[in-house]
Amino acid sequence: EAQTVPVTSRGFEGLPRGGAVEIRGVAKSFGTLQVLSDIDLSFAPGSVTAIIGPSGSGKSTLLRAINHLERVDAGTIAIDGELIGYRRDGDTLYELEEREILKRRTDVGMVFQNFNLFPHLTVLQNITEAPIRVRGLGRAEAEALARDLLARVGLAEKADAYPRQLSGGQQQRVAIARTLALKPKVLLFDEPTSALDPELVGEVLNVIRELAASGITLIIVTHEIGFARDVADRIIFMEQGRVVESGPPARILTAPRHQRTVDFLARVN
Ligand code: ADP
Ligand code: MG
Repeated sequence: EAQTVPVTSRGFEGLPRGGAVEIRGVAKSFGTLQVLSDIDLSFAPGSVTAIIGPSGSGKSTLLRAINHLERVDAGTIAIDGELIGYRRDGDTLYELEEREILKRRTDVGMVFQNFNLFPHLTVLQNITEAPIRVRGLGRAEAEALARDLLARVGLAEKADAYPRQLSGGQQQRVAIARTLALKPKVLLFDEPTSALDPELVGEVLNVIRELAASGITLIIVTHEIGFARDVADRIIFMEQGRVVESGPPARILTAPRHQRTVDFLARVN
């Protein structure tokens, strides 16, 4: 199926350098339900990782923990050596204040399944809101940045539209531009195409494909196994809150070492 490539030839060059993500001994429960157990993962700067696994296996919770939208019960997560949510003093961890957490969170951008655009703001306003409020950019500077990013996701002409006037694929591309406007070093995607009609999936995947070549660190939860094979350096298979196995797509998809991975791949293919 031919898909138009919505992005400009500039792609995403000039984005911030990708950050390193270090996850050590992370665990998380909701009440008696243990959702993450013993998670140890490293993501190199500029790496592209796809996380796959059945519904309920803890993939979204892991992404939310990396962005500190979720507090973990044990373990640490660091971006370029800076702990998410804590500061270390000797052997003791102290929780950061909300202000400091918000500031550090801008290093990690997150794109959700349902776009989460502000319905009452135009596309341009959706993108400029956070840079003005969080980064302290002037309006003119924020708008120039927003228009540049809109051009890169192929939506230069939609600056004054409202989200409801856009297709789901266009809304998701705006959501990507909005996230990039905060200049994250790490970009998290949580099933970015699951809410889209099949014919709109390709335009969003094409944008992510270009981002993968930009040097930013990408972690993508996806059910698009073919896309994961093409774009990711590594696939992580999660089940019941644990990393079952991880490795290069060619190995995970053709020679998985665990029966649970075999079973999952048989179900999704
Ligand atoms: P996945 O993204 O792999 O489908 P999630 O991380 O969303 O998995 O959820 C893992 C488990 O944690 C599920 O059983 C889910 O119902 C549960 N869960 C997620 N968020 C909460 C929450 N805020 N409160 C209680 N249970 C939750
Ligand atoms: Mg999920």
